[in-house]
Amino acid sequence: MAEPEPALEPDSDPGRWLRELGSIRSSWTREEVAQVFNTPLLELVFHAATVHRMYNDPQMVQRCTLLSIKTGGCPETCTYCAQSSSWSKEVGLKAEKLMGMEEVLEAARRAKAAGSTRFCMGAAWRGPSQVGKGQWARVLAMVKEIRAMDMEVCTTLGMLTPDQAGDLREAGLTAYNHNLDTSPEYYSKITSSRKYEDRLATLEAVREAGISVCAGGIIGLGEGPTDRVGLLHQLATLREHPESVPINALVAVAGTPLEGAAPPGPLEVVRCVAAARVLMPRSVVRLSAGRLKFSKTDQAMCFLAGANSIFDGDKLLTTANNERDEDAAMFAELGLTSRPAFLPYPAGAASSNGSDAAQDSCAAPRAAALGMA
Ligand code: SF4
Repeated sequence: MAEPEPALEPDSDPGRWLRELGSIRSSWTREEVAQVFNTPLLELVFHAATVHRMYNDPQMVQRCTLLSIKTGGCPETCTYCAQSSSWSKEVGLKAEKLMGMEEVLEAARRAKAAGSTRFCMGAAWRGPSQVGKGQWARVLAMVKEIRAMDMEVCTTLGMLTPDQAGDLREAGLTAYNHNLDTSPEYYSKITSSRKYEDRLATLEAVREAGISVCAGGIIGLGEGPTDRVGLLHQLATLREHPESVPINALVAVAGTPLEGAAPPGPLEVVRCVAAARVLMPRSVVRLSAGRLKFSKTDQAMCFLAGANSIFDGDKLLTTANNERDEDAAMFAELGLTSRPAFLPYPAGAASSNGSDAAQDSCAAPRAAALGMA
């Protein structure tokens, strides 16, 4: 964990990110990302909070609900995951079938009634190619029905072909989640059953289909700071920034190869959130797994640093999550409000509804208002 950062290249411009704070670009060098990431924490949070206010209402935080619609029995080998069939005996998790339509719709109705505006469904698959036509048709029908409830709908179903991405788009999917997890260099330590390029190819298929992209990572996998820099660099240099960037803190599950991993400290998460906010100013930065261990003060730091979404509900796929009542009390205490579904973003781009985002442009309107343009 204490790996030193590589020395800056001689022609790198250490002040550019500060001079151009809030600009939207995909041309970040890895050295620039390291400069942002290694900024003293409170300075970084200050700059991130400034960028956050250029594009977002800092009081508005979206509440999302994640449901595992097909649990366990996954042929992939992600060492952090309880759902891989490779260690199902050690974990003691039984593979389940794809949930029925009505059960899923009922969960979505409950989530909506409780104030969630985005419903995410996860299936422990390598990808839809692994399953029969009937199951795929059921998932598409779930997307269609939940979208008709006026909720944003996201799915995480593994690797997609362009045709499958097209099917999801046609069904009305708002966003597709496919995390890069960590840096390209560290990825082989996390799974042996697929390659980083496979992840990038799915993200490209999603983008091409016109679905908004949700891609982030996990901290606490045993990676070093250079891997966190590498992950953020990958995300911030995609041809368009993901509209949604989940930052997860590992919840180590007994029986998985990473069962003994130490949980990352809240301030490590704050640093990742703040860096993501500076690098991808318009994206929704989602404070995701691992929040259960965070105090209200820890979470307040994350919101200050630019996090503008949480997952609520009692479960996050297979691990426990914060109680909705506690979240409601925290929102009241911090003066936060719930973000409605499909709300256009202040800068007029990168909506969670999959609209195109113009990259490499300067943050004009709110930057000017802040006297920073
Ligand atoms: S993270 Fe997803 S792809 Fe990896 S083992 Fe778990 S369910 Fe399968």
